[in-house]
Amino acid sequence: MTNLKHNLIAGEWVAGEAEIENRNPSDLSDLVGMFAQASAVQLSDTLAQARIAQAEWAAYGIERKQAVLMAIGNELMARAEELGTLLSREEGKPLAEGKGEVFRAGQFFTYYAAETLRQMGDTADSVRAGVEVDVRREPVGVVAVISPWNFPTATASWKIAPALAYGNAVVWKPANATPASAVALTEIIERQDLPKGLFSLVMGSGRAIGQALVESPQLNAISFTGSVPVGKGIARAAVENLTKVQMEMGSKNALAVMDDADLDLAVSLALGGAFGGTGQKCTASSRLVVHEGIHDAFVEKLVAGANAMVVGHALEDGTQIGPVVSEGQLGENLDYVSVGKAEGAELLCGGERVERATRGYFMTPGVFAGTTNDMRINREEMFAPLTAVIKVGGYDEALAVVNDTEFGLTSGIVTRSLARATHFRRNAQTGCVMVNLPTAGTDYHVPFGGRGHSSYGPREQGTYAAEFYTTVKTAYIAAGTPD
Ligand code: NDP
Repeated sequence: MTNLKHNLIAGEWVAGEAEIENRNPSDLSDLVGMFAQASAVQLSDTLAQARIAQAEWAAYGIERKQAVLMAIGNELMARAEELGTLLSREEGKPLAEGKGEVFRAGQFFTYYAAETLRQMGDTADSVRAGVEVDVRREPVGVVAVISPWNFPTATASWKIAPALAYGNAVVWKPANATPASAVALTEIIERQDLPKGLFSLVMGSGRAIGQALVESPQLNAISFTGSVPVGKGIARAAVENLTKVQMEMGSKNALAVMDDADLDLAVSLALGGAFGGTGQKCTASSRLVVHEGIHDAFVEKLVAGANAMVVGHALEDGTQIGPVVSEGQLGENLDYVSVGKAEGAELLCGGERVERATRGYFMTPGVFAGTTNDMRINREEMFAPLTAVIKVGGYDEALAVVNDTEFGLTSGIVTRSLARATHFRRNAQTGCVMVNLPTAGTDYHVPFGGRGHSSYGPREQGTYAAEFYTTVKTAYIAAGTPD
């Protein structure tokens, strides 16, 4: 088959046991490509070679590792336009977001390139006379990276970059919905000065190759981003082999809007947070907890703003909301619209499938009002361009509603009160808290993660990533006395 993109198995590009086609969700007549699906035997072969390559990579000098990561990061940033276009074409986010994602992915690599030169340990005197203690971090070994489709390049990069920087081998299982971005990143990594087989790409379905990967006793660690049910299954598989695991999963982020908020700022934060990336962000503002003193004015402007947003082809100028990623996801989104209405929520705008010049999965941004926090639309992650307004009587009630969820990834408050902002920052039960900023949008040099069902295991990003990608060795040295 022409245009078939291969997997990278034990350092070689090879076809798989099957192939899938990948189509542009903005234009289903546009075939992005055909992609190989790895077999169980290929998976086992690449894991065996990864073990050998990892020992070689760990022994590379730190400057040699630094040069590899820097080259990957620089190439991603230099090609952000080209690779961002590919990403938007297969995932459906507007072009500016696609380009921004690829550039950000590059920054993960350049940040961790510098970290290769900053791997410090600790020293101490032993409680025993004449004995010294040296504490240092060593690579954890062979790491599986399992990534979702919504940030196909950035999420993978914030796992792959620290994994390599801290001396590990990587076997990457990207989401089958976004294989073209995975192949593009792998082609860049594979061209670098790496031991053969240090980095593998194993495209295939999660249920088949993903499950085989997480059950493998040849692995030392699994870093996963995706849904809660899949995450729970991975945790169960990991414990069987005592494999280290780190998971970022679902969310139900809330933005609290106080009566003293700057109204225009609050509306723009809510619109960006709820509908950026077609609402398919783990950091999306899917609950808007609004003080009764500003509620009506806020809702009026929010609905006007949502109605004005341009839904269209991801690569067209002016598009603000691209298509939903797939037919399955679109169906689930429309089901949630029905669920919300059946629960008594009022759909003030949007929430409908719409046609555009090309055939795709287009949906208008939907705003529910008159909702309560016990409704399913406020408890379950929708991963859709849908948001729900919950009216509250004051700050204390707002904080209680924000915290009343099984998730805990991000939260935000819009207020001019330093006292409320400070109290919220200290008492919101989420891994990330935003003050007068959208719930979505985080940096690459500081930790990222959540609480409750949103995250499990050590934090990702910044220097905190070392906790997951390394293991600590404590050495005791009795030097003796000089002659
Ligand atoms: P899924 O959990 O369905 O898939 C995530 C990844 O896991 C994909 O690569 C998938 O492969 C793979 N997978 C599926 N089943 C298995 C399995 N049994 N064993 C191993 N791997 C498997 O999530 P989505 O891709 O649909 O992504 C959306 C979800 O990701 C949302 O719930 C969202 O909240 C979450 N997310 C969380 C973030 C966070 O940081 N907290 C950030 C971004 C997203 P395949 O797709 O090929 O089947």
